Amino acid sequence: MRTKIIAGNWKMNVKPSETEALVKAVAEATAAFADKVEVVCCTPAIDVPAAVAAAAGTKVGVGTENCHWEDHGAFTGEISTGMIVDAGAKYVITGHSERRQYFGETDETVNKRTRAAIAAGLTVMMCVGETLAEREADLVEEVVGRQLKVGLKDVTAADAAKLVIAYEPVWAIGTGKTATPEQAQDVHAFIRATLAKLFGAETAETIRIQYGGSMKPGNAAELLAKKDIDGGLIGGAALKAADFAGIVQAAANA
Ligand code: PEP
Repeated sequence: MRTKIIAGNWKMNVKPSETEALVKAVAEATAAFADKVEVVCCTPAIDVPAAVAAAAGTKVGVGTENCHWEDHGAFTGEISTGMIVDAGAKYVITGHSERRQYFGETDETVNKRTRAAIAAGLTVMMCVGETLAEREADLVEEVVGRQLKVGLKDVTAADAAKLVIAYEPVWAIGTGKTATPEQAQDVHAFIRATLAKLFGAETAETIRIQYGGSMKPGNAAELLAKKDIDGGLIGGAALKAADFAGIVQAAANA
């Protein structure tokens, strides 16, 4: 039985001074479902201390949206996994499509970040997903398969068992276009089959696969009802506690 995980990706949208209120509102609105669903807020790095303080004593986990693979050094603008752990966060997103699109992230650097985060004991949500052009060219399995194989290179099965994979079709992120539950389930099943080839069927059964891309309270239930959809990575709807809680509730009832 895989515990559903609903994680917010705040992106570059919430100031440190606004963080306490949003985390507390999320904790309050989701408290009734906290035994059934793992709830996480991934925040800009500068918000982490405020988020960790606000989440103390609640079941809400805190994460970041990126990490570097080196422990320390001359990497202006980056944050290390040791810094994330030291600040009290327990989760990290790697390979988000916006990092791939705008910041030159490649499958190889996603792999380095993912392995460093695993080594630091963080729960990693590694994102994969195709663009619209790739879907239209019938390349979904080729692209997602490559992102998984390269992104998880040199990860052991024992470590893979603790991973979360986020399937985020790029064309559905922030666009209001959601993959149909069937489209999403097809790719999730493909991801699980690929994980089984990489790590064995038993490990693949334990890895949670989130869907991300315009998930909202209104479409969450039908997506989360699918066999291989184990949660959500939520952008826009994570910025309003009531909307986020609606998705968490759908996960609790799925
Ligand atoms: C995301 O950025 O991970 C995401 C899924 O965004 P949205 O929910 O806004 O589409």
